[in-house]
Amino acid sequence: LNNRFLAEQDSESITLDGEHVSLLLNAGLELNTEQSSAHICDGVGLYRTEAWFMQKGQFPSQSEQENWYREVLTSYHPNPVVMRTLDIGGDKVLDYFNITEENPFLGWRGIRISLDHPELFLDQLKAMLKANIGLGNLKIMLPMISGTEEVDESLALFEQAYFELSEKYPEQTIERPDIGIMLEVPSSVFMLPEWSKKVDFCSVGSNDLTQYLLAVDRANARVAELFNPYHPGVLRVLNKVARECEQYELPFSLCGELGGDPEGAILLIAMGYRRLSMNLSSLNKVKWVLRRLNVSDMEQLLSECLAQSTAKQVLRLTRSFMLEHK
Ligand code: PEP
Ligand code: MG
Repeated sequence: LNNRFLAEQDSESITLDGEHVSLLLNAGLELNTEQSSAHICDGVGLYRTEAWFMQKGQFPSQSEQENWYREVLTSYHPNPVVMRTLDIGGDKVLDYFNITEENPFLGWRGIRISLDHPELFLDQLKAMLKANIGLGNLKIMLPMISGTEEVDESLALFEQAYFELSEKYPEQTIERPDIGIMLEVPSSVFMLPEWSKKVDFCSVGSNDLTQYLLAVDRANARVAELFNPYHPGVLRVLNKVARECEQYELPFSLCGELGGDPEGAILLIAMGYRRLSMNLSSLNKVKWVLRRLNVSDMEQLLSECLAQSTAKQVLRLTRSFMLEHK
């Protein structure tokens, strides 16, 4: 089966009825394999910077980060690389940065830590901006945004980083990358009318969004069966995001595991998602599947799925659709 998927890895990522869907890579975990696959994706939709920080014994310096980011940006150039600022806390811990909490997923995580430690955040932003000089394929994404203050403070710190770098290197042209946010905290979904005026793009983190919508710890095996992004409540939220992003003209994508499941990918494409970011192992499979389907059929399936009341019913419909259209 894998050979069948591989045979089409260089083919265009396009549905039977001609809709192009950008397939992007979630990267940062197995860097060497991922970089050597740069030619089969349309860029990186989520670069998890914390994965590299986790391998270090201490916070890497600004110039160490700059070298690293430049290597990553170069590997995928001229395709875009969405670099996410440090997303530690929750299940992702650094040996050299102690966080002990009773409810880590509801605690000090992602952007909250960056805003409490602006020196770390500024270092990271400056390293990204410097690494992008002469390349221009960087986009920056902010994790775990839950309120407008966080958007505003992050953008103000970005301006500070940009200003300080421009002062320091007056002879260099420092580009302004697009800045986006992750939609992974339920409140963020309801803020699109305002936030679409402030940021350049958004990307749904369906792993955390599912966890927080269903109140199910994504890492707890005991409740793993309840962690289900095919829950109609979750699907309806993902659909609402697509409708509102279109309404407010905010470019949107999705970078959680759901987009790498063929069943999830086709429902998302039906909702209007045209940029899906996924692990390397899913890319060829999703491409193979979407090349054999019409968006109009997927839309028909979606409208039936959105009317179901359980994840089980959604999955039954989606799987039989896939078998019918094989
Ligand atoms: C997500 O939450 O869906 C996501 C893509 O980010 P991470 O899995 O790194 O938390
Ligand atoms: Mg997340």
